Amino acid sequence: METPLPDKIDTLFINCHLATMAGNALSIIENAALAVTGKTIVRVGKEKDLQKSVKTRCQKIIDCNKCWILPGFVDCHTHLAWAGSRSNEFEMRLNGATYEEISKKGGGIFSTVKATRNASKDELFISASKRIDALLKQGITSLEIKSGYGLDLETELKILEVIRQLDEKFPLHIEATFLGAHALPPEFADNPDGYIDLVTQTMLPEVKAQGFATAVDAFCENIAFSRDQIKKVFKKAKDLGFNIKLHAEQLSDSNGAAMASEFNALSCDHLEYLSLEGAKKMAQHKVTAVLLPGAFYFLKETRKPPVDTFRDLKIPMAVSTDLNPGSSPVHSMTLILNMACMLFDMTCEEALLGATINGAKALGLEQSKGSIEAGKDADLVIWDMDTPEDLCYLAGLTPIKMVMIKGGIHHNNLQTN
Ligand SMILES: [Zn+2]
Repeated sequence: METPLPDKIDTLFINCHLATMAGNALSIIENAALAVTGKTIVRVGKEKDLQKSVKTRCQKIIDCNKCWILPGFVDCHTHLAWAGSRSNEFEMRLNGATYEEISKKGGGIFSTVKATRNASKDELFISASKRIDALLKQGITSLEIKSGYGLDLETELKILEVIRQLDEKFPLHIEATFLGAHALPPEFADNPDGYIDLVTQTMLPEVKAQGFATAVDAFCENIAFSRDQIKKVFKKAKDLGFNIKLHAEQLSDSNGAAMASEFNALSCDHLEYLSLEGAKKMAQHKVTAVLLPGAFYFLKETRKPPVDTFRDLKIPMAVSTDLNPGSSPVHSMTLILNMACMLFDMTCEEALLGATINGAKALGLEQSKGSIEAGKDADLVIWDMDTPEDLCYLAGLTPIKMVMIKGGIHHNNLQTN
């Protein structure tokens, strides 16, 4: 049953079409109207049905001129707080250099770690702000940002503090994730277990005490950390009340997704080498699969994630930019949607669900974000296009007319009265 309408409707969108993403489908309502009060969506339906009950109590009516309204994108996996530049490595790779050669010349993830350790909070804040500005212009209204380029207590806390400042400055919702177990720092090159001890015994309690992050992530891979090492991190993280997520099965099958599922992870991410057994564990524990076609593309990978298995087992598939300086310097969600379709054989509907409601699931935010339904946050993007599928098909085009986040308008090219 519908809840009673509030006496006052702040904004009524009319003359629009909706792809609400409710019920695990595009769920299209043509010739629709949508009412917002405060931060919240209060009514969604056919315009003719909403006319009488809603129009008389409206403060503001916005004629959308037959545009489409979709929920704001939820970008559930990014590493966008970094310092330094890796564009020289891109050029080296194009000239035929291997990862080993780049690494020997001081490149790779450790060049980012070094630059991030040396950067001031202000420098980190400014460079991350530019990236968030770009994402906002892409219709992203919720965002996850990981630490993981410090790999020592001081720098990890610095990154997380900057993420908190970004959350305060920008209207979009930001979730912070602690990714201390991202890579082995050079000073622990001969002592990986010693670094895991530092993460579990020192970093995690401090991150918790500061309230800087809601989730803990790790990189389970033969070039990063073993399943047993990450298990120690997750045990401590669970004890401290963090959500869990994992970079799993990106370059090989480490059986990490099954382990993370046992911890009831919110998501396992990448998953190109996921086994059927791993997928079954994810299904059993209701873990979301986060697919990252930007990294697949930039690394010129050939093994695709098992999308058919996710379909068969009804595992929700999210898609995300994975915005990072090494393997996915992609600042465009519409480009990611196109890649999800072209590289991973997802349908437009699956890709759009992946960037909205399933992205929200991957962050544990599905009660308030990711679909257009009464009671949810009014995070909306108005698109000037013929169909929702255009967002996947017209690669890289972002015909945004308006962005609303929690009822506030942050970008407006529509005539309003
Ligand atoms: Zn990542």
